[in-house]
Amino acid sequence: MQRDLLDALRCPGDHEESWLVAMVHVAVGSDLRDAELACPVCGAEYRVTEGVAYFTAPTERAAADAPVDGDPFSGDMVVRLAALLGVSESRHPVVLIGRYAAAGAALAAMVEAPQLLVNAGLQPAAEMATRLRVGDRLPFGAHTLAAVAVDAKHATAAMLLSAAHALRVGGRLVAPVDAPLPAGVRELARDAHEWVAEITARANGLVELRRHAP
Ligand SMILES: [Zn+2]
Repeated sequence: MQRDLLDALRCPGDHEESWLVAMVHVAVGSDLRDAELACPVCGAEYRVTEGVAYFTAPTERAAADAPVDGDPFSGDMVVRLAALLGVSESRHPVVLIGRYAAAGAALAAMVEAPQLLVNAGLQPAAEMATRLRVGDRLPFGAHTLAAVAVDAKHATAAMLLSAAHALRVGGRLVAPVDAPLPAGVRELARDAHEWVAEITARANGLVELRRHAP
């Protein structure tokens, strides 16, 4: 796990956003290989083991570790995904969940943004990519991510909501065409397989504040 990612991580527990306190046991340069991440609010502890960050409850671990199936991404599919994600200039992380991680290594040739591969089995990863295992939501703070692609297996309401929350305003969310759009996103396009939506200010509560103003 890249050390820079600590700035974006938050406890996925059911409470207000909280940073995590890291105790690093083994690091190779900027890569944390073995560490403990503790939440000062609820006391939860998360592990980084062999570079993989685990945010799963014990009951979620097997599903998060499961191999990812599906056809490999062709060159055309990777170019298309890069266009959907719209992050050619971004330095903020791009999250590829489940089968989208299969595009990661090829995508890294086009997109400089750091990659976070979530529940991606053992898909080959780009250098500097970080692997995470998560349960039903993403462990990132508001405004921390440039783009998120969620595959069919992971496109639950909770996951999509946590993705919309963590994306920056103008950031892109890509999901299967039958997944519901979470609040605070505006659909940009859809085809037979996927929709792509853009985060509006509302996903981060800004419009709500305005609506309650006199
Ligand atoms: Zn917590």
